[in-house]
Amino acid sequence: SLQSRFFHQPLFIMTFSYLFINTLSVHTPLSSHRTSSSICRSIPPPPTPPPRRFASICMNSSATSSNFDLRIGHGYDLHRLESGYKLKLGGIELDHDRGCVGHSDGDAVLHCITDSILGALSLPDIGQLFSDKDPKWKNADSDLFLHEACNRMHALGFEIGNIDVTVILEKPKLSPHKIQMRSNIAEICKCPLEKINLKAKTHEKVDAVGENRAVEVHAVAILHKVNKASAQEQNEEEGLVGKVAEELYGRIMERKLEGDVEGSWTAKLLGMGVKKVGQKVGEEAVEVVIEAIANERENVIKESADLYFHLNVLWAQLGIEPKDVFKELQKRQNISGIQEKQSRNQ
Ligand SMILES: [Zn+2]
Repeated sequence: SLQSRFFHQPLFIMTFSYLFINTLSVHTPLSSHRTSSSICRSIPPPPTPPPRRFASICMNSSATSSNFDLRIGHGYDLHRLESGYKLKLGGIELDHDRGCVGHSDGDAVLHCITDSILGALSLPDIGQLFSDKDPKWKNADSDLFLHEACNRMHALGFEIGNIDVTVILEKPKLSPHKIQMRSNIAEICKCPLEKINLKAKTHEKVDAVGENRAVEVHAVAILHKVNKASAQEQNEEEGLVGKVAEELYGRIMERKLEGDVEGSWTAKLLGMGVKKVGQKVGEEAVEVVIEAIANERENVIKESADLYFHLNVLWAQLGIEPKDVFKELQKRQNISGIQEKQSRNQ
């Protein structure tokens, strides 16, 4: 598919790496997150850059569709761990002697993913959308935030390509819970499980995270635009040739059986015999050539339709069905034109 070809391009990988490094380099220093008792820090956002439409750069190399829109978003979150709080990550409550300090339920994984999706779409961040000053979000279930980000994403016509999450936490071990977390996230995002990945690391016992005083999460999300109109158009065009060809021949055969030479032009034509119809085919073929030389595209289409109709009448007279001709064409697709010509000359 277009998408898989696109993802395998070295240029895509280079662009992705550049963008990822770029995102990290403007990322707010860790220290500004440390005193948070909020859902997420709502620090003043940097000037909003225009939406990144880098897909068009890559299009020039091999892909041809112009309606291919990709967005990358990076999310980051950190919560202090203190006793007296529940530890909730990725939608599940974990057994631990301390939990995330926060205005909401403190689910840093869901907050981080929410921010990666919002960031990819250049929308306001989680702290701006769900203020920690708003009592409405006190102890709120963080599913709500991710749901809202996904609703906004779908409203803008985007879907999740994939999300990769890294959780940095000294204790407890997350490996037994990874599948359940991924499944919870996939369910909220309404996407297949394989599109959500989650990795867990420790901080080697150093700094706040390593000393079991904080949890840190990073996420990268790729979103792609779903062009429903073009998909529908493609479905409608698929099989069009076969469908119309079949219907046309069916109608000609009906007229042949009815034999109403007074009321039907087709029936009259059929009654004229092979020689006369053959002559009509020849005339229509000449019309096509004349219009082609005059470079009249629309007329070539119309004369070709006339030619094809008369050719079908000729076939009907001889008991040849369109499928007989298409089978012959299909057979020729498997051998080269030169081989085919040689076989006919023998
Ligand atoms: Zn948070």
